[in-house]
Amino acid sequence: MIVGVLGAGQLARMIALAGYPLGVDFIFLDPSVDACANRLGEHLHGDYNDPRLLAQLAERADVVTYEFENVPADVAEFLASHTQVHPAPKALAVAQDRLIEKTFFHDLAIPTPAYAAVNSLESLEQAMPVIGWPAILKSRTLGYDGKGQSLLKSADDLKPAWEQLAGVPAVVEAFVPFNREVSIIAARNVSGATVYYPLSENYHRGGILRVSESRDNDPMQQQAETYITRLMEALDYVGVLALELFEIDGKLIANEFAPRVHNSGHWTIEGAETSQFENHLRAILDLPLGATTAVGKTAMVNFIGGLPETEQLLTIPRSHLHLYDKAPRKGRKVAHATARADTTGQLAELIKQLTELADKADDS
Ligand code: AMP
Repeated sequence: MIVGVLGAGQLARMIALAGYPLGVDFIFLDPSVDACANRLGEHLHGDYNDPRLLAQLAERADVVTYEFENVPADVAEFLASHTQVHPAPKALAVAQDRLIEKTFFHDLAIPTPAYAAVNSLESLEQAMPVIGWPAILKSRTLGYDGKGQSLLKSADDLKPAWEQLAGVPAVVEAFVPFNREVSIIAARNVSGATVYYPLSENYHRGGILRVSESRDNDPMQQQAETYITRLMEALDYVGVLALELFEIDGKLIANEFAPRVHNSGHWTIEGAETSQFENHLRAILDLPLGATTAVGKTAMVNFIGGLPETEQLLTIPRSHLHLYDKAPRKGRKVAHATARADTTGQLAELIKQLTELADKADDS
């Protein structure tokens, strides 16, 4: 069985690492010559919209998937008309545009922050009395890890924030004074069978995910499952889906979804019976899905911008290191480590050790 993957970064790499024990082979398409998954399969090197490479991928792969949501719509459509593509292009179209995504949530009765479409400074000014302060201005497309976003605290912030976006269409949304951020990850296979992971509790800094902790028996689990089920059914979804949520006073508010394996689910490699990467493959190949039961208490710490000495990381007990084989660069995710513990106290101590090392190595 051959799975084609658009993108050959760390997510593709971890998909491949999960696939080999199941006898799956991989072909990656990625424009970067040193993409970090390219030693785990065949690397088609070139642009995502190169017709020759796309035709090769479509012909040779039994099923095509992707590791990022900004796959051009025409590329996804081309592939879908020649081979199986999971998740379907519709999920990409919704996830690529924050306005379409928020409207989609709204239509499914999944709560969102108050939001409005913004196409000019005037429309931003007009929206503010309705949205309220503080608020966040976000570009509709191509935003990730907090990029293309500005916090709006007063009327003085409007003009600089709008100018920073350089005229691209945007949404303004109410700032949610959340108690915590969580995400739910689920997998649905071609036959419609669905499994849900225990919630992840997520800590961001500078808009980038730093730590995710598995939350077995979380009081918000059921609510999160209800919302992600609505999304998967509406999209006739196949694969792993991640939904990011804010929790405020016992209520969940949707931020965004990712139609792919997700950074907040990396702990599932050691912390769940079946990892999100394996379940993504099982889902798109229409195999029975694996159990998502938590194995102990786990947390994942990202290494961003730089990396401590490997030897130093390997001395931390019950922690599992995943190097992505990527050159360190400011703001770039280069590795993660997952710590596993029996008690919350032990886990907190391991997170402390790992985050201290991560912060020291991060030059951003
Ligand atoms: P995003 O790129 O939309 O996932 O935003 C990155 C991070 O910015 C989120 O994980 C939150 O920590 C923060 N953020 C985004 N939108 C909001 C909001 N409406 N209210 C509060 N924090 C937000």
